[in-house]
Amino acid sequence: MTEGYVHVAVIGSGFAGIGASIALADAGIDHVVLERADDVGGTWRDNTYPGCRCDVPSHLYSFSFAPNPDWSETYSPQPEIWAYLRRVAAERGVVDRTRFGHDVLDVSWDVDHRRWNLTTAAGPLTADVLLLGNGPLAEPALPDIPGIDTFEGTTFHSARWDHDHDLTGERVAVIGTGASAIQFVPEIQPQVEKLTVFQRTPPWVLPHGNRRITKAERALYRRLPLAQQWVRYLVYWSREAFATALIRNSKGLAVLEQVARRHLEHQVPDRDLRAKVTPEYRPGCKRLLPSNDWYPALGKPNVDVVTEKIIEVRPHAVVTADGTEHEVDTIIFGTGFRVTDNPVADRVRGRLGRTLAERFSEQGMAAYLGTTVPEFPNFFLLAGPNTGIGHTSLVVMMEAQYRYVIDALRTMERRGAATAEVRETALRSFSDEIQNKAAGTVWNSGGCSSWYLDAEGRNTTLWPDHTFKFVRRTRRFDPGRYELAAAPGSVG
Ligand code: NAP
Repeated sequence: MTEGYVHVAVIGSGFAGIGASIALADAGIDHVVLERADDVGGTWRDNTYPGCRCDVPSHLYSFSFAPNPDWSETYSPQPEIWAYLRRVAAERGVVDRTRFGHDVLDVSWDVDHRRWNLTTAAGPLTADVLLLGNGPLAEPALPDIPGIDTFEGTTFHSARWDHDHDLTGERVAVIGTGASAIQFVPEIQPQVEKLTVFQRTPPWVLPHGNRRITKAERALYRRLPLAQQWVRYLVYWSREAFATALIRNSKGLAVLEQVARRHLEHQVPDRDLRAKVTPEYRPGCKRLLPSNDWYPALGKPNVDVVTEKIIEVRPHAVVTADGTEHEVDTIIFGTGFRVTDNPVADRVRGRLGRTLAERFSEQGMAAYLGTTVPEFPNFFLLAGPNTGIGHTSLVVMMEAQYRYVIDALRTMERRGAATAEVRETALRSFSDEIQNKAAGTVWNSGGCSSWYLDAEGRNTTLWPDHTFKFVRRTRRFDPGRYELAAAPGSVG
């Protein structure tokens, strides 16, 4: 049973929450982490599908303050990333500060006492400050296909892989061809009798540069941490250099397209299949996917790529617009996540009594510096709107946010402020700036639709610029953009 008061509550113990807890502890700030599950790791705990690995190099996709000299491959598989997070969380005291089984059911701002009232699955709690680190890629998105409930076979989402279900010899449908599907399809293809891949939009696929990290390299990193830091630095800057073409939607993308087309032509000799999987938008508009085994898997005799629209599911089949009934035993959804309608936003009610979801649906999903929202005092979103990244490691963005939040809390303390709430004017000018910047990027103008854009075509998810600019912008908390208020009854 959870009762009582904490100064800061961090919701979620994935990458965002673990890092935030370490940063808060290092700054001497009292806090707890609330986790709905019984272990840390967030998306890297939940995504256990075959072939799951990070498509950002591990030297960069890790905390700068906790390098791991023992990565076995340049792009690590999920079990290693999860083990890394669990180890860092245990060694740095995060596990001790985490209350597991604490699904946060309801959060509301108490106007009189100027604090957050939380209802969790394990009881109530109050907190002065809330950090929302529940992650944009936490809630599976399931398509609303007519008849889906009538299906008599097995269904599951890639992020909730059913390991008890044996796919051997089955007829399997995979819906989606995004970052997850292109990793698990080649893994299950040899096992199943028949694989039908339902593709709505083909991704641009690049050759994968993954390789094993040698024993000698690992020994070097262990003995000379500076060497690993140097590699991190090189990976970081090469990705930022590459991002220039994406940000400017410039001619540099033609080179990228050439590399991707050559990869496609080399790996897909069959003309019909090649035509089906060739994208008709600029590379980078959707996430660029590295893979050496996706195309070869699609070319196998037991695989069919179906591009007809799915219109219905029947008890034993997926039906497409051309009237074909594709008989299947299992449907696997590789259909992504509820990024723009995360259910946690329905549970957080701000100063004016409306939920974060209501605010976002009325005014668009936006947060000042991707972190703070008017009406929601003492509230910080980790990996919030417009902090997503299409070219490099999200950890870079989250570490910048930790520094900003801690500077905010210290500034409040110094100034005797009980609350800090970002001004609407600050958010409006930030949003205008972001939308102007985003308009010229490949993510907005590359000729595709993606989860990066909302229904009006506004980019509400990605940071549309180099990450070092975000790091610079968040280096210091900027109190002039906030309404700071003293505690009720306090003097001065
Ligand atoms: P995703 O990239 O959003 O892909 C979802 C796929 O499902 C797309 O092909 C989409 O088609 C399709 N789809 C969605 N609804 C559909 C429907 N109703 N009918 C038919 N097709 C439908 O999802 P994801 O692959 O799970 O990846 C999500 C994000 O997770 C990635 O962008 C990335 O940020 C992250 N991720 C990262 C890694 C990594 O290695 N670091 C690995 C996996 C995932 P459309 O393209 O037409 O929308």
